[in-house]
Amino acid sequence: MIIVTRPNITEAELDHIRERVEAAGLRTHLSRGERRTILGCIGDESLLEGIALRSIPGVESVMPVLRPYKRASVDFAAERTVVNAGFGARFGGNSLAIIAGPCSVENADMLEQTAKSVRASGASMLRGGAYKPRTSPYSFQGLGVEALKMLAEVRSQTGMPVVTEVLDTRHVDVVAEHADMLQVGARNMQNFALLAELGRIQRPVLLKRGLSATVTELLMAAEYIMAHGNNDVVLCERGIRTFETGTRNTLDVSAIPVIKRESHLPVIVDPSHAGGDADLVAPLSFAAIAAGADGLIVEVHPDPESALSDGDQSLTFDAFSSLMSRLGPFAIASGRSMEVMSS
Ligand code: PEP
Ligand code: MN
Repeated sequence: MIIVTRPNITEAELDHIRERVEAAGLRTHLSRGERRTILGCIGDESLLEGIALRSIPGVESVMPVLRPYKRASVDFAAERTVVNAGFGARFGGNSLAIIAGPCSVENADMLEQTAKSVRASGASMLRGGAYKPRTSPYSFQGLGVEALKMLAEVRSQTGMPVVTEVLDTRHVDVVAEHADMLQVGARNMQNFALLAELGRIQRPVLLKRGLSATVTELLMAAEYIMAHGNNDVVLCERGIRTFETGTRNTLDVSAIPVIKRESHLPVIVDPSHAGGDADLVAPLSFAAIAAGADGLIVEVHPDPESALSDGDQSLTFDAFSSLMSRLGPFAIASGRSMEVMSS
């Protein structure tokens, strides 16, 4: 931590700042210039968290030198994390991990059909919402526990691991019982009680970036889960709110290399919720993979026009199969194997 003082600081004020910092357990180093004095604080910055440094008389600005996240930071890991979701689905290795399936689980039949089709096309994991975070309370809210049972049943039929969203701390255990990976939706990225609960389970977490969250806020949300005991976190860029109205959200492609620079955690992209339009899913997927994403999560439906949620952005089975067959060159461009499926 570096503390820059005001030009007119008195010696008494300077002494007071030093005393506060040293009393917290850090050492200080003074650097006196012609007009300003800079105070370097050496030691564990987190010990200063309880002090409102900027409010101390004579302090002009305070600059942290370390990243605010620790467990999620590249500085704190010997190598990049590979998250294993079971049944061969791995996030962060040399191959891409592709998750596909309907926005919502609507019935057992459509789920099974979708699972079989996306698996044949090379997807390594099935998605399907049981609890849906809908903007309107009058929209379809998901089938809840019934949908969880359908997901578990399709997993045992097909051998495909499943991921589904958990909306509420009260549902963490039942979702963890049925699913291989738990998704935190964009709207819950800063639901700290939920993140803490997910820290104590033995299942990987797919953490989606909030609608208006910075990359730092996303990594701090991952830090919550990790600080509570669960290191298996996969991050997901799913588009952010901007002034642009041509797409549902704006896919922040730059977040991928930024996250890779900042964190050892794997990062995947959701081109479906980013673009909000089935026609945009393939180009956004290509951009994501070329930029270094570790995988994708894509909405696929047997009959998008009659989907109970997000039909406009859902791919047909054929469109998904075509997308999968065109990913290889982008994977190679970003230094991965041509092999898309990780199992
Ligand atoms: C979803 O994946 O179905 C979903 C609701 O996504 P997001 O939280 O990114 O909007
Ligand atoms: Mn959706």
